[in-house]
Order: sequence, then structure tokens, then C-alpha cells
Amino acid sequence: MVMRFEHSYITGLPGTFLRHDPDVAPAPALIALNEPLALSLGLDVAELGAEGAAWFSGALRPEGADPVALAYAGHQFGGFSPSLGDGRAHLLGEFRGADGRLWDLQLKGSGRTPFSRGADGKAALGPMLREYLISEAMAALGVPTTRALAVVTTGERIPRDGALLPGAVLARVAASHIRVGTFQFFAARGDGGKVKALADYAIARHYPEIPDTPERYLAFFDHVATRQAALIAEWMGLGFIHGVMNTDNMAISGETIDYGPCAFMEAYSPGTVFSSIDRQGRYAYANQPLILAWNLARLAETLLPLIASDEESGVQILNERLEGIAGLYRREWLRVMRRKLALSGEEAGDGALIDDLLTAMTGADWTLTFRRLADWAGGNPVPLKALFEDFTKMEAWLPRWQARLAAEAPARIRAANPAVIPRNHRVEEALSAATEGDLAPFRALLAAVQNPFAGAEYYALPAPQSFGRYVTFCGT
Ligand code: AMP
Ligand code: MG
Repeated sequence: MVMRFEHSYITGLPGTFLRHDPDVAPAPALIALNEPLALSLGLDVAELGAEGAAWFSGALRPEGADPVALAYAGHQFGGFSPSLGDGRAHLLGEFRGADGRLWDLQLKGSGRTPFSRGADGKAALGPMLREYLISEAMAALGVPTTRALAVVTTGERIPRDGALLPGAVLARVAASHIRVGTFQFFAARGDGGKVKALADYAIARHYPEIPDTPERYLAFFDHVATRQAALIAEWMGLGFIHGVMNTDNMAISGETIDYGPCAFMEAYSPGTVFSSIDRQGRYAYANQPLILAWNLARLAETLLPLIASDEESGVQILNERLEGIAGLYRREWLRVMRRKLALSGEEAGDGALIDDLLTAMTGADWTLTFRRLADWAGGNPVPLKALFEDFTKMEAWLPRWQARLAAEAPARIRAANPAVIPRNHRVEEALSAATEGDLAPFRALLAAVQNPFAGAEYYALPAPQSFGRYVTFCGT
């Protein structure tokens, strides 16, 4: 028995999901198994290796699993879709990790569900390996995230953009799959009872420290806001661009979820957008903190009836909270940036110091600039200078920074700033090879991003000019 399934969500929240079986794949093969994750969760790696292909491909239902598709709604690029839900995912159940915590195990790309609308319920291998790679990178970088447990190829070919691509299923582990959009689904239907039940469930699962008082729903909002603000601050520190910060892709747990057209920024430019469908730049790098606040406002709307008995005072209370999000985010961002820059203590001028660095480093590689500040602090300015065509603004900024440096700055900087991120050209190289049947580049890149603070040069350097402007596509 590798995992004993529990079902707190479906037993505790009837009417929030639909039972549905995954498709049975014609020729399943387990091509990636996350052994370190499995071990850390207390799962039986040998059994997963032996049974994973069958369990994650619909061929065999693991004992105790009860597959369901979860209901949710969502604001997508600002427009409300009252009925989304898991259109190509099946929650098999929950299990307790070695740490005693409860985890969801979900299949993605596992076939149509009653929420599929016109789509095929499938996933191509490339996007599932991409989620695997990038979520593993995020985990290694210390960012809260869902994790990939395994990828199984199905033996099917699925049509995407005029090509037939190998189909795959990703098995992923998450603190839960409750999204801002889950609350919206029931609020939009006027089902206040379910919104309350969902909030109570989310508090018990993710925020058990909240005391059981009438103010607990406001405290719940505050806790979610703090975790999501901390999360977006970590993204910003890494130059990570999620690409589809729709409310259905914002997890109540504060984990990064749903890796679609996400990518890491190379040359720093606040307006950077990678996603082909984000034509207005709604989810551009520098907009992410604004969207954080926008999405939290959507969550607040659903909680309104739980916050106060009359709407007017509820609105007033929540509006005050929402006005505080920018300040909350700024504090989290300062925490992240002070860590990256090894600043000693906290000073009032730190915000301006960091803002001025961003201005000075515009156009230079985000990741390498921070990394090579360690060389500069250690007395070697050459690697940093090599990143800049015009170093004059940096020349002016560096002495100001030096005056604020903590002891052991080079070591601290190297511990806080990765050498390796999943560079777009390397990700593409790995995924194209995998799609052609060669998994070696994927495995090598995976190993590199799982150890991001060491870093082989092959993976650390930016894309060559010839790679051109990077465009990502939703993994549908
Ligand atoms: P995403 O953009 O991946 O977060 O997905 C948004 C919504 O579209 C979710 O409800 C998904 O379940 C659904 N969806 C995405 N791709 C597919 C697909 N190939 N088949 C069915 N539903 C899908
Ligand atoms: Mg999604």
C-alpha cells in the first residue's frame, strides 16, 4: 500500500465536484518519476515505479482513489466565466505525507470531464514536462508550489496547432486545489452556504491557526492575502512571469499553480510578457503585484456576506483591507529584495535604493546581475560589468549599496540568488527533444534546475541573440 487515500474535500463539501473516471490510455509508459519528492512525502518509490504507469494513465485505479473533477469559476483576462472546473484533470484523492500534512494527488491531461466544454481533456507531453521542470525549479528556489510526482505518456497522439503530439498525463501533488475561482463558482450562484463551508474547510486545512471566532473569515482573507503577497514577491525576485494569473489559477494555499505559458525573464524589462494570448500585457512582469490585488478583490467579494451582517459595513471593512494590499505587497517585496541584496538590517531608504538598482539594471540579465553582485562584493567587478553595455548608472549605484552590505555578503548573495533558472532556450531544447523521444536533455536540465545555487555554465547563460523573442503558449 503506497498511499492511503483520504477524501476530506469530497466528503466535507458535497456538491462542489463531479465524480468522473480518467480516460484509459492505450499504451502508458512512466517516463518521469520524482523520487526525491516521493521520498520526502513518505511514498514507496519502488511501488510508484512499478504501478505508476497504470495508476496515472487510468488503466488501474489505485486502491482507495475516488476520481472527481472539481468545480470552479474564474476571471480570465478580466472577464468572468461562471463555469470552468477541471476540464482535463481528475483529483484521485488526498493522502498524508510523512510530515502528517494532507496533500492532493491530481492527474492533469487525463481526459474529458463534465467541465471540458468543447475541449479534448488531453495534454501534450511538452507542456506537462514543462510544468514538471518549472515547478521543480520553483521548489528548489524555495517558492511555494504544487509539485510534479510523475509524467506518464499515454501512447496517443493528440492534435495541437496542426501537429500530432505525444499525449501525456502529469500526476501532481498540491496542498489543495482550492482556487479563488472555487469561491467565485458558488458566490456567483448565490450559494452562500457553500461559500461558508468552503471557507471553513480552507481555514481548517490551510490556516488552522485562525481562532474560531466570528471574525475568522476576515482573518482568513488576511491570511490568504499575506501568503499570496509573499508568493508574488518571490516571483518578482526571481523574474518569474506566471502568464495567466486568472482567478482560477490563484491557489488559496498560496502555492504557485497551473504552469502554462509561464517563463523566467532574461533581460530586465518591466513590461516583459511571454504568453501569446496576453496581447494587452495584463499579466506582464511588473503588473503581477497589481493583479494580485485585483484577484484578492474578487476573493473579498465572495466573502462579503461572511464578514458582516449588513453589506455596507462589510464593504467598508473589506475596502480597507484591499487598500492595504499594496502596502502588504511592498513589505513582502522589500523582504525578498533585502535578502537578494544582502542588506544589513532595514533602513527607510531601502525601497529607493532597490528601485534605483532596477532602473540602473534595465536591459541586463535579471538572474545574472544579482548573482554577479556577489563577485562585485567580493572584489571582482569584471563578471558584473560584462553584463552591461553601459555601466554608468551601476557605477553610481554600487557605492550606495556597498554602504548597506551585511557581513559575508558574497556568500549571502550566492545563497539567495540562483545561478540557474530554467532558461527559455534550454526549456525549449529539452521539450523539443522529449517530443521527439529523447529525454536526456530534459533529465539534464531537470537536474540543473533542481540544484540552482551551484550551476553549470551551460544552463546559467542567457539565450543567444539568435533565439529571438520568446513566445509561450497555453498548454492546452
Ligand atoms: P488553464 O488555462 O490551463 O488554467 O485552463 C483554464 C480552463 O480550461 C480550466 O477549466 C481547464 O480545465 C480548461 N482546459 C484547459 N485545457 C483543456 C483541455 N485540453 N481540455 C479540457 N479542458 C481544458
Ligand atoms: Mg488553470
